[in-house]
This record gives sequence, structure tokens and C-alpha cells, in this order.
Amino acid sequence: MIAPVYVDDLKLDPFWWDAAPRPKLLPEALPAKTDVAIVGSGYTGLSAGLVVARAGRDVTIFDSEDLGWGASSRNGGVIGGRMKISFSALSEQRGQEMALAIYREGRKAHDFTVDLIRGEGIDCDLVTHGRFMGARTAKDYDAMCRDAERMRKHLGIETAIVPRAEQHREVGTDLYHGGVVRSVFSGIHPGRFHQGLLDRVRATPARLMPRTPVTGIERERDGFSLDTPRGRVHARDIVIATNGYTGTVTPWLRRRVMPIPSQIIVTEPLDKGVMDRLMPMRRMMGDSCKLHHYYRPSPDGLRIMFGGRAGAPYLYTEMLRIFPELKGVRITHSWSGNTGYTFDTLPHIGSHEGMHYAMGFCGSGVSMGTHMGNRIGQRILGNQDAATAFDGLDFPTRPLYFGKPWFLPAALAYYGLRDRLGI
Ligand SMILES: Cc1cc2nc3c(=O)[nH]c(=O)nc-3n(C[C@H](O)[C@H](O)[C@H](O)COP(=O)(O)OP(=O)(O)OC[C@H]3O[C@@H](n4cnc5c(N)ncnc54)[C@H](O)[C@@H]3O)c2cc1C
Repeated sequence: MIAPVYVDDLKLDPFWWDAAPRPKLLPEALPAKTDVAIVGSGYTGLSAGLVVARAGRDVTIFDSEDLGWGASSRNGGVIGGRMKISFSALSEQRGQEMALAIYREGRKAHDFTVDLIRGEGIDCDLVTHGRFMGARTAKDYDAMCRDAERMRKHLGIETAIVPRAEQHREVGTDLYHGGVVRSVFSGIHPGRFHQGLLDRVRATPARLMPRTPVTGIERERDGFSLDTPRGRVHARDIVIATNGYTGTVTPWLRRRVMPIPSQIIVTEPLDKGVMDRLMPMRRMMGDSCKLHHYYRPSPDGLRIMFGGRAGAPYLYTEMLRIFPELKGVRITHSWSGNTGYTFDTLPHIGSHEGMHYAMGFCGSGVSMGTHMGNRIGQRILGNQDAATAFDGLDFPTRPLYFGKPWFLPAALAYYGLRDRLGI
């Protein structure tokens, strides 16, 4: 592994917090009761809160930390409608009709989020340049081509095939065996998107309770009581929007959503000529490695932001494997956050013992969390059109899983080895 070269004043907070620092708001006075209590102030919680508060309900949003401290201000800012599992594999697993419905929901989530950003006038560096996905092996390339054809035929989603001989028009590397470009992919500044959503929520009477963990939830005849270090509050409805930070207060969900860390490193600004060679189209990027890498240009187009499910030294090594000419380039920011994975690799929305939840976005929750949060809000308001393709799906756990992914180090080592061996 190659040791990363860091700048002297390396920042271990997200790059996004430079332009959108965590709001230093103080918690408001805790009411004795509220119509809707929301646990978690990321995209999911805010999106649910916004729709319900605008409809006139009394809303209280809790977060253990500063608002938006979780994955919603730490992510890569890539918005796509993709599922973790390919369309072909999902069709085989659940039948084509279900796979179609789920992929259409993903598209809806993308479009909903882009429309929300535009409709609300949220200034968050939205670009809709599409995404290039590189094939790590020739076998992966064949599978991508087959998947692209099925998606075109059944979903009308156009995917451009990029053979290996032509890939330099997309990416300055010889590592990949070609790839595909999907046009329905966008990029945003995730911190400024969160800030924009928060500003919209703050324009409603919703109450914001940063640094106020919900430590206990009890069901009552007409709703729930929530315990916090600031006291107890009664809520008629409750939304759990804690995704990769789901804790012991909701043990049933904790057994179903695994906290899987993801890390991002950011290079110092590069010469425009280098960026023109390495990422000529300035698209969002990813590849088919088992330890999936995702990378993108910074919103000003001058830095590479490189992410994956491993620590900074591993990411630096992998970045150099893709772009050897970056050897010696220094890293200015490095941070991590939790994604929320599910055992069936699908997001889940529903209610358990009367509590609404939406989570398990498997690393693709920017649009899915925003969309699902809105759907839950609509359900609380009693709107009939709040159905999603995920309704009624069984939410699986595993017999020996109680909330700590003990198998993770072994799984990461195994997948990392397969990537290095190209199998
Ligand atoms: C490094 C990284 C890169 C990613 N890249 C992408 C990407 O490019 N594209 C994409 O679509 N997705 C990406 N994701 C995933 C995406 O960020 C998440 O799916 C999404 O932000 C989830 O939003 P959320 O509101 O559901 O949860 P979060 O934003 O994680 O918020 C959950 C909140 O719940 C709070 N909380 C937990 N327990 C309690 C409690 N008991 N009381 C009060 N508060 C509590 C936490 O403090 C936290 O702030 C990435 C994630 C990471 C970590």
C-alpha cells in the first residue's frame, strides 16, 4: 500500500463543510407534545419534516449531533436512481415485474430530488452530466453491456457503451476494460443541498433539536413518548430516519440496517490540463470493483474526490492504480461516514409497531432518502399517492446479527484481494 501524501493542514472533516459548515444552532425548548417527532436530521428526516410542517402539523426534529452531521453532509453527492443490485440480477431474484417497479422508483427518486432542488431554488452546484462506470474486468464489461441492453429494452433507459479502445474520451486510465455511461445521473454539493433543505424547514414553524439524542421510545395508547436528556415528549406520529446511525433505541431496525463506513479523500487543486486528461467529461465516475470506488470532480472541477469502503491509504493506492500520474499529489481532506446496508441490498420504507421508517439506502441515499422522506410525510398526512415499489417488502435480518457488522474486516479483505487479482 502507498502512504498518502497529506498537506500539512489536512482536514479530517468533510470537504463540504468548508462551504457549508454544520449549523451551530441550539436546541429549542422541548414541548410536552408534538404531532410528529422525527429522529434524524439528514435528507430523510428533513424531507419528511418539510412536507408535514408545510401542511400545518406541529413537527419536532431531533438529532444526537449537529443538524445534518450524519451521512447527509459527508457523501459523494452523486445522485442516481441506481440500486446496489443490477437490473439483471434483480430480475432473476424477484422477477422482471418487481425489478421494473424498483428501478422505476429509483428513477422517480432521482427526478424528485432534481425537481426539488430546482423548484425550491436550492443553490447546490447541481450538474446533470451523467456517470461513467468503468469495468474492472472483461467479464464485468460483458455483464454491463447485457444489463444496459435490458435496461434500454424494458425501462427505456439509454446507456452508452464505451469500448476499451475509446475509454480515454471518458477517463484517463488504461485500467478499465471499457465501461458504460448512464445519462440519468447528477452531481450536487451535498453539504449545500442539506443546508438548502434545512433553510426551507427553518422557514416553517418546525422545531429543531440538535444535540438531543432520543434515548427511549415507548408506545402509548394515542402515540408515543420519547425520552431525551432534555425531557420527555409525546408524539402522535414518529419517523425514524437514522439510516447508518441507527442505534439501540430502535433494536428491530438496528438488526436490519448495517452501518458500513465509507471514506472519501480529496486531492489538492490540479492543473486544468491534468483534469482534462483524467476526467475530460467532468462526469460522476464509478467502477465495478468489488470494493466499489466512486469518484468525481469537485464542483469547481479542479480536484478529484475519491471514495470507497476502505481507509485513506487504501483509497490513495487505488486512486494511483487508476491514475498513476497523480503520484505525489497531496490530499487536503479525508473523512468517513456510515452508509446503511441491508441484507437484501434494497432500501426499505414502512412502519414497525406504529413507527414510520425509511432507511437502508446502501450508499445511494441522496435521492432515495429525500424521496422516501417525502413519501413518509405524505403517508402521515393521509395522502393516497404515497405508495412506493418497496412497500410490503420483507425486511430481512440474519440470525447472528444484532447491530455490529463483525464480519466486515474479513469481507473487506476478501473483496480487496479479489480486486487486486482481477477476479
Ligand atoms: C462517505 C459517503 C459517501 C456517500 N456517497 C453517496 C453518493 O455519492 N450518493 C448517494 O446517493 N449516497 C451516498 N451516500 C449515502 C447517503 O449519504 C445516505 O444514504 C443519506 O445521506 C442518508 O440520509 P439519512 O437522512 O437517511 O441519514 P443520515 O444523513 O445519516 O442521518 C441520520 C442522522 O440520525 C441521527 N441519529 C441517529 N440516532 C439518533 C437518535 N437516537 N436520536 C437522534 N438522532 C439520531 C444521526 O446523528 C444522523 O445525523 C454516501 C454516504 C457516505 C457516508
